[in-house]
Amino acid sequence: MKKDGTAGSKGPYGRDNIEALREAVAAVVARTPITDIHTHLFAPPFGGLLLYGVDELITYHYCIAEALRASDVPYDTFWNMDKRGQADLIWKELFIDRSPVSESCRGVLTALDKLGLDVASRDLAAYRAYFADADLAAHIDNVFACAGLTSVVMTNDPFDETERPVWERGFEGDERFRAALRIDPLLLDWKNTAPRLQGWGYDADAMLSPNARAEVRRFLSDWIKKTKSLYMAVSLPPTFAYPSDTEYSTLLDECVVPVAQEHNVPFAMMIGVKRNVNPGIRLAGDGVGQGDVGAVERLCAAYPDAKFMVTMLSRENQHELCVAGRKFRNLFLFGCWWFLNDPSLIEEITRMRLELLGLSVLPQHSDARVLEQVVYKWSHSRTIIAKVLADKYADLAGTGWTIDEAEIERDVARLFGGNFWNFIA
Ligand SMILES: [Zn+2]
Repeated sequence: MKKDGTAGSKGPYGRDNIEALREAVAAVVARTPITDIHTHLFAPPFGGLLLYGVDELITYHYCIAEALRASDVPYDTFWNMDKRGQADLIWKELFIDRSPVSESCRGVLTALDKLGLDVASRDLAAYRAYFADADLAAHIDNVFACAGLTSVVMTNDPFDETERPVWERGFEGDERFRAALRIDPLLLDWKNTAPRLQGWGYDADAMLSPNARAEVRRFLSDWIKKTKSLYMAVSLPPTFAYPSDTEYSTLLDECVVPVAQEHNVPFAMMIGVKRNVNPGIRLAGDGVGQGDVGAVERLCAAYPDAKFMVTMLSRENQHELCVAGRKFRNLFLFGCWWFLNDPSLIEEITRMRLELLGLSVLPQHSDARVLEQVVYKWSHSRTIIAKVLADKYADLAGTGWTIDEAEIERDVARLFGGNFWNFIA
């Protein structure tokens, strides 16, 4: 009941009913639907690019890295195993021979549990049978429902030989699997990318002549339209510098930012990945390094009318990035990426962001590579976000401020996607 006695939003909550406030926050956070703005998932028409099932969960590169620490199996022996053999080895090393306390191992178990499987049985064969019997369309519905998702944003790579033909055959898009155009080869490997563009009918010489720049813009425009991409994106090394005497700096100024502005799509930068720190463990072999927040600031200042989405991989960059966020309304902070996707770090970063930037951020994305990972990533993150948010409201209540349920719903809806949709609008 409201103060005036009419039915409607519950509350108000304040200093006199803090426990009820915390319960209300937990309930709202648990039920609010989410837009997952960065994943590596794919709609079913992309076939084998959509990874799902227990063997994919267990052979996620996070788990591979941990298993190859625990095991003394030679790397080559591991990579020569088929997926099931790799999963058997990881299961034994990380789940049977020692307790699976790491976040990525716990995540496998949360996903299985939420999907209704008996985690206590430790029966890998039973889990495999469950996924083998599943109807994919119904399973996707179930996973979206379990995670509380309305839509996910894919990572769409026009340079990928498996993916590109699906778009060229005229894939029309899917309301639940939205597109984002990933352009890493264009920015980070221009020498090898120019001939590929030429092969696809874009007259782009390697010297980046004015004509080549126009052709890169045409390529990007064509693919934004073809994929209906919500944003363009790149993953960058810690050495990313802007402005700089590099091809990517020229490509940003002359191609990417102009096209982003023309189509009103943000440019998303994920900064801080050190590729191939240990090539022997392949996709699991990337590391982290501190990036330069100054590069982000200079881009935002140079192009106040362009929109930039940024997440950084190094914990040490987070505070400086929050302060940059205070300076630039065209800078949108999102997610706790990869090595930061751990409960202690998500809590620390989310708390810092709310304290420095209020409710103007998007605290989390899943980065899921395997369908069922959205179940665990969102289950774990919802718990942490609810805790941080409840603490912040409790602090407000300490001043005498009150809040009702409808206001909590409004705030959580912003954090779980509303801020993103507003930013890209
Ligand atoms: Zn990613």
